[in-house]
Amino acid sequence: MVVSIVLTSRETLPMKKRIALLPTLLLPILFATSLSSTLPAKADQNCPVNPNSQLHRVKIAALLSGTPTQLLPSTPANNATASPTVKPIAISQPSRKTSKRATGVSLRKKVNKLGDKRVLRKTKKGKKSSKKARAVTPAIEAEDEVKYVALTFDDGPNPTYTPKILALLKKEGVHATFFVIGRQAKKYPELVEQIVADGHKVADHTMNHDEQLYKRSDARIEQEVLGTKTLIESIVPGTTVEYYRAPAGNMNRHERRLVAEWGMKSINWSVDTKDWQRPGVATILKTVKRQLRNGGIILMHDAGGDRTQTIAALKKLIPKLKKDGYEFVFPSTALAARKAPVVAANDDGQD
Ligand SMILES: [Zn+2]
Repeated sequence: MVVSIVLTSRETLPMKKRIALLPTLLLPILFATSLSSTLPAKADQNCPVNPNSQLHRVKIAALLSGTPTQLLPSTPANNATASPTVKPIAISQPSRKTSKRATGVSLRKKVNKLGDKRVLRKTKKGKKSSKKARAVTPAIEAEDEVKYVALTFDDGPNPTYTPKILALLKKEGVHATFFVIGRQAKKYPELVEQIVADGHKVADHTMNHDEQLYKRSDARIEQEVLGTKTLIESIVPGTTVEYYRAPAGNMNRHERRLVAEWGMKSINWSVDTKDWQRPGVATILKTVKRQLRNGGIILMHDAGGDRTQTIAALKKLIPKLKKDGYEFVFPSTALAARKAPVVAANDDGQD
């Protein structure tokens, strides 16, 4: 081939230039030949390191034609023979579009499209997490996954807002958990009764809402926490208080242990609407949209100030969550769903 190139160039190139051209044309051949001679002549016709293989012939042809291509796949065995400056790429290199489709990146995007937003958040963090994302791929599909959310209201009962919220929940046919303050429950026992009668849970939010309660003595904690549980159970005989939420969510391991000894689960929240700051209905809804995942526990308030925005937000939020496929449950079910997403549940979604 080299000879023919030189010959056919005779008419157009002077002799000096033709001689100068020879090393340029011969170099790739010499290189390819020396490469072949260092490789094992073993027999697999498809092996890229077999000098007789189809692939090898393709590579030599590419070298001669000057087309940039790879030499060898990067393995410790052939790194010794291949030029270290040559980057290994696939022999039959797919188009950019195809290659993108085949990568894990697009696979993860596909998973996220299927509705697991937690996967999306995790995959942004890096390689380790993206492995996790691949691991959950088959189990989670938007159509099959049952999504759970728990609505919770703190600091009531309140004679103005609690009845309005109860009426709205009844109209929508959903249930919630009311973390009541003991001193409020004492003032409005009929509201505590109403909450239970409507099928909601009444839970313990201490007697006086001391945000530093976990720092107090055991006797004080008992008075505040166990005192409220006992009070609720006396207002509504036959009911059992299952949940406790510390004021402002402040608690330590010791208080948590005490609460468990008194037969309650300590529950915080995963979505803080900050409705008590009255940020506006749109902001409350945006916060929920941004923070809510399957198994979410939404924190709102039915007391402690003007709750008009809370109620207005709820009127939009409940239908929206229903539309998004959420079932309204109590905190235990929500927490369980968060640990292990439920596919095609067949219970009534309440606990
Ligand atoms: Zn509170």
